[in-house]
Amino acid sequence: MLEEILAGGFQALGIPLPEGAPALYRAYLTALAAANRDFNLTAIETEEGAARLHILDSAAVLKAADLRGKTVLDVGTGGGLPGLAVAIAEPSAKVTLLDATEKKIRFLEDFSKSAGIGVQCVAARAEELGHDPEYRERFDAVVSRAVARLRVLAELCLPFVKVGGVFLAMKAEDSDEEIAEAENALNTLGARLRDVYEYVIPGTDVTRRVAVVEKLAPTPEKYPRRWAAMQKKPL
Ligand code: SAH
Repeated sequence: MLEEILAGGFQALGIPLPEGAPALYRAYLTALAAANRDFNLTAIETEEGAARLHILDSAAVLKAADLRGKTVLDVGTGGGLPGLAVAIAEPSAKVTLLDATEKKIRFLEDFSKSAGIGVQCVAARAEELGHDPEYRERFDAVVSRAVARLRVLAELCLPFVKVGGVFLAMKAEDSDEEIAEAENALNTLGARLRDVYEYVIPGTDVTRRVAVVEKLAPTPEKYPRRWAAMQKKPL
């Protein structure tokens, strides 16, 4: 059942499904459901729902940008989405999973180690790590889903992106206003909207989007600001 949903879904999206991936996705969804009983990682309960709304949705970012061999950071990964799903679908990508909640990162570390998936897991706040020279402007691509409105999310994510790299923000279908209102933030942070990639999650009537933002210039040193300032005076 899960194997069929994944095979059909990846085919519908036009993304190759690596040979070992279905078994890894099965193990991941099992671990996620078990961890979910201890702490909240996902609201989606059924296997089919999780396969479509988490795995297929996450894999769709691979249509918005070519991540082969790229360094990729997932900001606010939660239970590992989209980052872990991307790492399984595109094993050549070097994926780092970032979340402020330590127990979520511990879960991802334990799972990825036991499954033999080579991801790096970091527990930190993005607005602090974004000033760390080891992480600042070090990634070819930054991805993020369901963390903050785009104008705030851009301040959290763009400092990590290399000049010439991309920031891929996964958004709902009705995000026109949110995207338009982020224009000043993108400019201020050295970036601009390149494209909005729209897709339907296979087997559902859910349309989703990836806002593809390209980084053109270094982000000014004072960004990201502290969380309270970002919220109070969004760019
Ligand atoms: N991306 C996942 C989780 C979304 S929930 C998904 O789509 O399912 C938002 C997550 O972002 C939470 O796990 C929260 O801990 C994390 N988060 C929120 N603000 C953050 C910040 N400033 N730095 C790092 N992580 C943050």
